[in-house]
Amino acid sequence: MKKANAIQRKKTRAVKVGKLILGDGQPIRIQSMTKVPTRDVKATVEQIARLTDAGCEIVRVACPNEEDVQALGKIKSKITIPLVADIHFNYRFALMAIDEGVDKLRLNPGNIGDKDRIAEVVEKAKRHHIPIRIGVNSGSLEKDLMEKFGATPEALVESVRRHVAILEGLDFCDIVISLKTTDVPAMIAAYRLASQKFDYPLHLGVTEAGTLLRGSVYNAIGVGTLLQEGIGDTIRVSLTADPVEEVKVAKMILESLDLRQGVRVISCPTCGRSEIDTAKLALEVEARAVNLKGPLTIAVMGCVVNGPGEAQGADFAITGGQKKGMIYVAGKQVRVVDEKHLVDELFKEIHKRQ
Ligand code: SF4
Repeated sequence: MKKANAIQRKKTRAVKVGKLILGDGQPIRIQSMTKVPTRDVKATVEQIARLTDAGCEIVRVACPNEEDVQALGKIKSKITIPLVADIHFNYRFALMAIDEGVDKLRLNPGNIGDKDRIAEVVEKAKRHHIPIRIGVNSGSLEKDLMEKFGATPEALVESVRRHVAILEGLDFCDIVISLKTTDVPAMIAAYRLASQKFDYPLHLGVTEAGTLLRGSVYNAIGVGTLLQEGIGDTIRVSLTADPVEEVKVAKMILESLDLRQGVRVISCPTCGRSEIDTAKLALEVEARAVNLKGPLTIAVMGCVVNGPGEAQGADFAITGGQKKGMIYVAGKQVRVVDEKHLVDELFKEIHKRQ
């Protein structure tokens, strides 16, 4: 089927994070964050390995204590994707994180306070070519902005402007920006405004979006709307769930907009016409398809009403009959198989060709 989507990406500066470039029309990168104490090197490295296998391209770790910062070098030596240290107020931790070899800092310079300390961090980041992400969040806006604007898009953008001004004042431009809020329309408005005001790469996300289902929907709408408008260079889907789920959802958001080509399982919603367990088959196909190489479309259809049509547009397909199903390859019927062997036989056909 001919693709309808042709997104014109907004032009942003190129910012190097490890071996990756963010911005400047480069592929939109998927990020996540570990959810174990960073000082537990083994658990952190294991989680990052799972995230990397799932498709995470940049990983951030929280550094609330000195022990966490001291673990960064060991973690960095055991992983293959860029490592970002999340530092909030402690300038010493930022300096130490750079010494430990991190690839990026997430740090709001205004939160450090003392000008000399900010300058020391910025100078060191500059010397080591370490970019800084300014991450403004509706939950931690400056008091005067809250009083003047409330937690509005204008307040988020003004907060970012202040942090950017500090870095630019020190002749530092390796900047990435995020302005996250839990309110999806406000998040969209804030990023639109920021996209007009700044040409630094934007990291998109709906913060504290919720558990797996709600958080996925809220992020799909917030992040997806902006991506469709060409806004955004990197994304994180924040979920109260295993971080691997964040990566899976982020990939699906990018694939849904043709910003990335992956393995897509199309499945019908099933109805009273289906005489096979379409939902079970679709879940099984989706679970087994995670390690396949894309671009690839697999259709799982409950009956012959829409089944053959979708099957013809897919690389591989199953259409249901009475406790049986037809397997299609490249739109052509291959054979009829009993329901209980349908998924195995479908994957035999796929693996012959992958
Ligand atoms: S393909 Fe068949 S079973 Fe699936 S929703 Fe359509 S009519 Fe119902």
